[in-house]
Amino acid sequence: MSLLSTRIQSIKPSPTLEITQLAQELKAKGKKIISLSAGEPDFDTPHFIKEAAWEALQQGYTKYTAVDGIIELKKAIQAKFKTDNALAYATDEIIVGCGAKHVLFNAFMVTLNKGDEVIIPTPFWPSYPYIVTLCDGTPIIVACPQFKITADQLEKAITPHTKWLLLNSPNNPSGAIYSKEELAALADVIRKHPHVYVMSDDIYEHIRYDGVPFYTFAQVAPDLKDRTLTINGVSKSFSMTGWRIGYAAGPKEIIKAMAKLQSQSTSNPTSISQYAAAAGLSHSGEFLTENNQLFLERRDMVVRMLNDSPGLMCATPPGAFYVYPSCAGVLGKKTPDGKRIESDKDFAAYLLEAAEVAIVPGVAFGLSPFFRLSYAEDTPLLEKACKRIQTACTALKD
Ligand code: PLP
Repeated sequence: MSLLSTRIQSIKPSPTLEITQLAQELKAKGKKIISLSAGEPDFDTPHFIKEAAWEALQQGYTKYTAVDGIIELKKAIQAKFKTDNALAYATDEIIVGCGAKHVLFNAFMVTLNKGDEVIIPTPFWPSYPYIVTLCDGTPIIVACPQFKITADQLEKAITPHTKWLLLNSPNNPSGAIYSKEELAALADVIRKHPHVYVMSDDIYEHIRYDGVPFYTFAQVAPDLKDRTLTINGVSKSFSMTGWRIGYAAGPKEIIKAMAKLQSQSTSNPTSISQYAAAAGLSHSGEFLTENNQLFLERRDMVVRMLNDSPGLMCATPPGAFYVYPSCAGVLGKKTPDGKRIESDKDFAAYLLEAAEVAIVPGVAFGLSPFFRLSYAEDTPLLEKACKRIQTACTALKD
């Protein structure tokens, strides 16, 4: 009999880990690997947020809090939804968790039964299918070469077992953003299927460029608000990945069940982080504009340099801090030591060995042949990495 549960054995380690492991082995051998595989901003947490945390410590807010989050933070989240998304939620329609990942996990945990299906458009954040599987659900992967699911594709993917459609805009890894019209078209389909709910992961909401507007599903389809769970958090916008605060707003029944699960598992998210997050959400956010300006300059440089690399084609993403270039043009080519590149995974391994640059192959996000490069890194380092990628691509032979 196996020590480990069938549940944990039903999921595989992410392919991201294989690249990270290989990068670590090479680093241990003294190679100067540039890692562009991380999913977090390189900026420090804004000073005023750290001050709010320090103030919370001074005030002695170091004890258990309400399981579903302190009222100060819930009110800040409520105000954020009103201001940014024109959505009105009562505080008992909001829950705070230990990061958006935790909130997503809990939401699936309290809603999925064996055989329930979750529609996940590609490319997707690699944790989605694993979380769904861990919660006994069945991920239904819909291939979206244009990076967004269409109403037609959604209609075809819905079955009597569908529980959720999972949307992520701006998207990790492609940076794609759904327009108001695209969301409205999806809403028309959802309206026809009263058993289907929508989970909208808006974690990259504030990281956008070129004036591209942001709409969340419940805002575009207010009549479907009671079938929508909107997930967000402070990790990406506020450079607070380590503080572990995420939140969700939606039907009271789901929120209450998530709070019950939280009460029997993690309890409240860290008290100090909650006060810090409340300060972040209540701020006018000029630092966001500054960060986005820097991200924009890096994005443009990276897109230009990758498009100058033989065999690569990189679209300009409107949001998030990743590019997702196609590497179809390098497939079938040979490396200087004679290995043929058959997949984006082979290409990632080649870049790691030959260019000493770590990126994540598209297979991890369910859409090949692509790769994800995070430009949430120091600009000179990014330039160096892109030059190395150019050299490595030039060295490939037909
Ligand atoms: N959703 C997406 C699309 C992400 O990319 C990430 C983090 O990489 C998360 C959720 C999780 O964020 P958090 O740090 O709040 O758990």
